[in-house]
Amino acid sequence: MLFTREYGVISAGTSISERGKSKSTLALQPFTFGRYGVHMSGANYNIDRAEVIRSFYGLSEDLDKFFRGSYVLEFTAKALHPEARMPAAFDMLLDFFDMLESRKKGYGTLVLAYQTRLFRMLGIPPVLDRCAVCGEPPGEWFSVADGGLICDNCRSKIMKEESENSVRSALIYPASFDIINALKYFNNNSLKKLDNIALNEITGKRLQRIIREYAAYHLDISNLKSESIESMM
Ligand SMILES: [Zn+2]
Repeated sequence: MLFTREYGVISAGTSISERGKSKSTLALQPFTFGRYGVHMSGANYNIDRAEVIRSFYGLSEDLDKFFRGSYVLEFTAKALHPEARMPAAFDMLLDFFDMLESRKKGYGTLVLAYQTRLFRMLGIPPVLDRCAVCGEPPGEWFSVADGGLICDNCRSKIMKEESENSVRSALIYPASFDIINALKYFNNNSLKKLDNIALNEITGKRLQRIIREYAAYHLDISNLKSESIESMM
């Protein structure tokens, strides 16, 4: 699988031998930013030339970083439509790996910021400045199904009107000031502005839950292979 700036996510085979230590072989390792010569053979893409521009393969020496990186790649591949051109998302993925490599803490926060920014790029940013249902000032509730913060009234109404087991009422989470602020910050600032911001563990875990439910509901992304190991904040 290749994520390309020009052609989006493509599945490609390769005629380059994956053994050996040639320059082209190195460029086929995961976590590599490179230049690839790809051509169509029948209905399939084939990589016949590959050259490393920058390798982030060193991340595999730090398990914490490695799992975060793997998770983000898997998440991104599922979130984007195959072959949809998404240059901004591509650039952000490069920023993500660059930052993950140099960061000393708050890896989980970086992942959450990346996911929030990706929702925005995909046209499904969470509504944070008003109640996602009625438009009044929001309260401290995040409704996954409604796509963002909701007010106390709407929350009471939903809890009263929906059956106890409805997805809509089950997916309303308390959103503390910390969570709301983090979401607003991620939404309004490029990933690079994150600097060393690291959420505390409790806030991080709560926000992670909301973001994963949001991705499951709006993008149908769940049960990623890399998820169980990555979920430590
Ligand atoms: Zn409302």
